[in-house]
Amino acid sequence: MDNQDGKTLPELKHQGAGRWLQKEMMTDYYRALSEAPQKGEPVAYLFISGNVGELMRAFGFHVCFPEVNALQCGIKHVSPQYLLRSEDAGYSADVCGYVKNDIGLLLSGNKTSFAQIPPPSLLVCNYAGCTTYIKWWEALAEYYGCPIFVLDSPYNRLDHIRREDIAYVVGQLKELITVCEEVTGTKFDPDRLRETLELARQAEELWVKILHACKHSPSPLDAYFEAVFLMAPIYTLRGTPQAMQYFQAVWEEIQERLIYGLGPVPQEKFRIVLEGPPPWPKFRTFWDMFKSWGAVTVASTYSKVGGLWDVTGRYHDPDNPLESIAEYTLNCYVNWSLPRRRQLLLDYARDYNADGIVIHSVKSCRSFAAGEADFREEFSKELDIPTLLIESDLIDPRYFSDAQMKNRIDAFFESLEHRKYVAARAA
Ligand code: SF4
Repeated sequence: MDNQDGKTLPELKHQGAGRWLQKEMMTDYYRALSEAPQKGEPVAYLFISGNVGELMRAFGFHVCFPEVNALQCGIKHVSPQYLLRSEDAGYSADVCGYVKNDIGLLLSGNKTSFAQIPPPSLLVCNYAGCTTYIKWWEALAEYYGCPIFVLDSPYNRLDHIRREDIAYVVGQLKELITVCEEVTGTKFDPDRLRETLELARQAEELWVKILHACKHSPSPLDAYFEAVFLMAPIYTLRGTPQAMQYFQAVWEEIQERLIYGLGPVPQEKFRIVLEGPPPWPKFRTFWDMFKSWGAVTVASTYSKVGGLWDVTGRYHDPDNPLESIAEYTLNCYVNWSLPRRRQLLLDYARDYNADGIVIHSVKSCRSFAAGEADFREEFSKELDIPTLLIESDLIDPRYFSDAQMKNRIDAFFESLEHRKYVAARAA
């Protein structure tokens, strides 16, 4: 095996560990989730963004993320049947595809190739930025006849989190603790929560080191196409020893790549920042369109949907348990104002030495799509940052045209190539 300088490498010890372990952990996660009803164990449904998984785990809940179930269906190419099933039930084409996948799955018996999705014991609507969350959980509460708790996180319009907003969310977390005690019959154990938060903090710090490694050139990791897989345990299993050990193993893999100059493509030619969710049913096809140009994503926003620890520097904190959970829920990407998101993209482009920004705008998700066309106009026309805006969907393959997408991506990299050529001649 050769690195990007063509040097023959010694035997590598850690390559592939992250991917292999991720698959194993997600299999175990779904097995435990499937078995929860037979074992009489409680299940809490949560949203990824700003989730309070640590608190739920401290009560012995299994945490279930219908968004993750939906993306699994997308990548396994079974989402169309669930989208059509929910459309038959009256959900319009405009509704978020994750919602329709979940409702269609529910109406089809909740049996997938990767799990039997259990019914919720409690629906926790950690409402942070996306208005769809509330209506989705209301529909599930009606279908399942299950209690629902809405945790309201005020939208973040400033460049910092206000103390009164933290206090407001902490007050709601105390109410949630009472609800969890009632649903599980388990008394709240602050020490158990602290242990969970300490494990979460360690995993988060390792994940940030992994993401920051992409500042190196060549980048050892694709911060979108690889990161969206590697990140799964930071949401589904955060707060467990397994998740912390997993990120330690991924960090060793990345360190080995740094030592030997390895990266996700044989030769890194372009460094890009990518905004927006992936088109899960076309994931490989989409990635190949970038790889064929030697393009590597060095920073992305979708890999931060569950946490912006890399830029806020704020982690879950066992010494300030409820306050740090509150701050985390307030600080998630879709809860940030558009000016903050705009600045984040610009900061990523500068800090990671990117050649351009690619915005993948998805039909389903207004939380992401809002403002993206304006970003593109400003970045490319006023700031002279090459910016490509492409559109499809995160889960509905009917909105992805292979030929059109390839044409747009090829044209973008051709222009980047020309720009580099002109800059080199002028130097
Ligand atoms: S609209 Fe976007 S953020 Fe909201 S549920 Fe759908 S995919 Fe998630």
